Amino acid sequence: MSVKPPTHSRQAAAPAMGGNSRTAVRPRLNPLYEQMQTSVFERMSGLAAKHGAVNLGQGFPDFGWPEEILEAAAGALTEGSNQYPPSRGLPPLREAIAAHYNRHQQLDVAAAHVCVTSGATEAVGAAILATVRPGDEVIILTPAYDCYAPMIRRAGGTVREVALRPPRWRIDREPLEAAVGPKTSAILFNNPHNPAGRLFTRDELDVVAAVAREHDLTVISDEVWEHIVLDEQHFVSLASLPEMAQRTIKIGSAGKIFSLTGWKVGWMVAAPEMAGVAARAHQFLTFSTAPNLQSAVAYGLDEGDAWIEPMKQRFARARDRMTQGLRDAGFAVLDAASTYFLCVDLAQSGIGLDDESFAAAAVERAGVAVVPLSAFAEADPPRHLVRLCFGKKDETIDAGVAAMAKAKKLFE
Ligand code: GLN
Repeated sequence: MSVKPPTHSRQAAAPAMGGNSRTAVRPRLNPLYEQMQTSVFERMSGLAAKHGAVNLGQGFPDFGWPEEILEAAAGALTEGSNQYPPSRGLPPLREAIAAHYNRHQQLDVAAAHVCVTSGATEAVGAAILATVRPGDEVIILTPAYDCYAPMIRRAGGTVREVALRPPRWRIDREPLEAAVGPKTSAILFNNPHNPAGRLFTRDELDVVAAVAREHDLTVISDEVWEHIVLDEQHFVSLASLPEMAQRTIKIGSAGKIFSLTGWKVGWMVAAPEMAGVAARAHQFLTFSTAPNLQSAVAYGLDEGDAWIEPMKQRFARARDRMTQGLRDAGFAVLDAASTYFLCVDLAQSGIGLDDESFAAAAVERAGVAVVPLSAFAEADPPRHLVRLCFGKKDETIDAGVAAMAKAKKLFE
């Protein structure tokens, strides 16, 4: 079934700025944005601030960034250029990204494959604009990160949801194949998967690659969590599978690799011709990205391989602490082994409330912000799961777990 954007009745317009309400002119706005809610992450962080709640909603760690990279950024700010860098990114950063993927993922890429963007969300937008033509259908695997569907629609495409089902969230060939129609042009893939907290297995990657090859589809592969892979698992980029390098735009994020989400430094990696077209989409979105942060990220990628392993272990410890705390408080916690998110099953925890209502009560009445999973799908979304960010210091985790226990008691 194809997913249509929700149709809400138009609300009365607010008076125009400085205008008089009797003569207010109704501005003509894009209904896609008019009818859209503010992103669930922004909403939950706003509510967490308003209620003084522990913020386990929006995904950002409260530890873990290496001091050296901050010093590199500070040095670049005071000693380096503060003028426009090249739109596609500083050459040393583009080279560092390519070298990073040569070393870590055996990808045969060079600077010509790379375009630096202002965060991975911009990369997703540019990759969609560069590949989706009006009328194309794009497959997303739900629950899917909340920017995918609106951006596909803004590019004139239609969204086809393929639902992954908890608790295993497995990709099976049949439903994926069944979603491909004559207009399907792309799959927007995400591995490791947010919000499921799963690294897909090699079999599942083979399914995605086989469907893409067979139906000549482009794959936009959001791999921003590639280094937050716990429990000795090994990440494989979709772009490294046979014949996939030519049809994949891989997306990465320095914010995730270095626990610096506010820096908003991301990138696209693709075959040079495709990367060039994507770079043209990027040049008229943000044009370029702060040069000092780019320099620091180049330094981090060149010098920081030794930071990655301890970071994973630190995240694994945080995951274990939060999982244990929540289980001790009577919550059913789904296993999480990638990203810094875990999901709590409300129904299995004895809470007969939908995810949005629970999230609203938890932040207002118990002091903890979480993310309802129904924000990540439109057709038949799961309504019994909430996502918590475990990438936190012990005291944040303990305070969050205590507040979750309080939230649970509200409904007993
Ligand atoms: N990636 C973050 C998350 O999943 C959110 C980023 C954002 O708010 N733009 O929580």
